[in-house]
Amino acid sequence: MSGKNFYQLPELPYGYKDLEPNISEELLTLHHDKHHAGYVNGANAILETLDNARKNNQELDMKSELKALSFNVGGHVLHSLFWENMSPDGGGEPEGKLAEMIDAEFGSLERFRKEFWDACKVEGSGWAVLAYCSKTGRLMIGQVEKHSVNVYPGFRIIMTLDLWEHAFYLDYKNEKGKFIEAFWNVVNWKEVGRRLEEIQGQSP
Ligand code: MN
Repeated sequence: MSGKNFYQLPELPYGYKDLEPNISEELLTLHHDKHHAGYVNGANAILETLDNARKNNQELDMKSELKALSFNVGGHVLHSLFWENMSPDGGGEPEGKLAEMIDAEFGSLERFRKEFWDACKVEGSGWAVLAYCSKTGRLMIGQVEKHSVNVYPGFRIIMTLDLWEHAFYLDYKNEKGKFIEAFWNVVNWKEVGRRLEEIQGQSP
């Protein structure tokens, strides 16, 4: 494995036990230390492969390398957002600008949750995300297959929910719906709202 750390596994912003009973210590530990770490290591290894091939002027199967790079970088970025948009003090309802924008876009928080729930039926392994389009100023729900398929290019993602089986199976078996409900108990609306306002602050 690569010795170079272009990307680094971030520490969780809380302890491994702190999302219980919604997410168990065992599940969170595996998910962060094994799965997320795997994407970080995978991305770093591909970058090193690219560097070495360029240095030695070697041919590479670029189609395959770049597909794998997108997969691993996507995994790293989405997981990093995911850890931070959960909190032991999460749950409840969004406030301020985020709450206003959810109401303006979806009509109500209830309608947003319903549409987000439907987005959780992502095809195969993937994510449901909430993104912001700075061109229209609108919030957009997205279904990201794997880690990078179906992304809206250039839209900033402000909330992610991991729906790969590795994200819930140990605690919830085949009952993905219970995991989605548990997510609402730990969702860190403050962080989601902070991201939104940060992006809007950068918008022209
Ligand atoms: Mn995951």
